[in-house]
Amino acid sequence: MRHIAQRDLRNVQRVLIQLAEARCLSLNIIWKGNQYTNSSERRGQVPQIIVNHISVGSMASLDAWFTSPNNKVSSAHFGVSKHGDIHQYVKLERMAWTQGISADRIAKAPAAIVREKGINPNLYGVSIEHEGYDGNLSEEQFEASLWLHRYIRDYVKQEWGYVIPFNREHILGHFQIDPVRKSSCPGPKFPWIRLYAMLAKPSWEEQQMEQLRLELQATKAVVADLEARLAVMERDHHLSEVPDWAKASVNKAVQQGLIRTPTPSSHDFFRILTVLDRKGLL
Ligand SMILES: [Zn+2]
Repeated sequence: MRHIAQRDLRNVQRVLIQLAEARCLSLNIIWKGNQYTNSSERRGQVPQIIVNHISVGSMASLDAWFTSPNNKVSSAHFGVSKHGDIHQYVKLERMAWTQGISADRIAKAPAAIVREKGINPNLYGVSIEHEGYDGNLSEEQFEASLWLHRYIRDYVKQEWGYVIPFNREHILGHFQIDPVRKSSCPGPKFPWIRLYAMLAKPSWEEQQMEQLRLELQATKAVVADLEARLAVMERDHHLSEVPDWAKASVNKAVQQGLIRTPTPSSHDFFRILTVLDRKGLL
């Protein structure tokens, strides 16, 4: 019985450690908050698309430009470096200035959602810049970007109650909004097929949570079994009459008014009474 309880405790400890690990994984966004003027209100629009870009430059130059007081023209919500670092420049609650186009070109945009909504796509977009030139992401960069897509979806779901669908209509490249000026953003080597394939699968955290859910379910079943066995033991311990070895002590206790009647009780009760008697305390 005891060894089963200790095994359960170990399970619970493992669950807690894994949850802590999952929590740590979610803390790798470095805030570079832009205190200048290159963001604005979403004007009530909910983020509905994630737009991928290529920075055509280094992460250092991206950081410098997006935090420069001279920059009053462009920004992005996030940047992902070749090393897999994620920098955030604009809060998701605000609109970054990344993929805006004029009204006449909105009507001709390749992305259906842009044509249908008919408003500045920055208003309902979340933008990710990737350090590099041709879209050929490093492995660390791809993993970080994949994680970031899921982070954005979770954040938007929590803040606005909207789930950004992970499909080709909502996970876009800049060229699908602005094919005239940005036909090569995020670059010819951007890993679209792999990104869509990975986004379709459950994340590591989701897999872990499912595993933990199953383990907790199993642990609960063990606890329920233990409780049932304990109930049986308690019932068996409840004696229907006073055992012979306790009769003298019970009688003495009744005579002294310590207990009113020799009511049938548990094994332990009679044992304690007998020990007190033997110690001369009755
Ligand atoms: Zn772009």
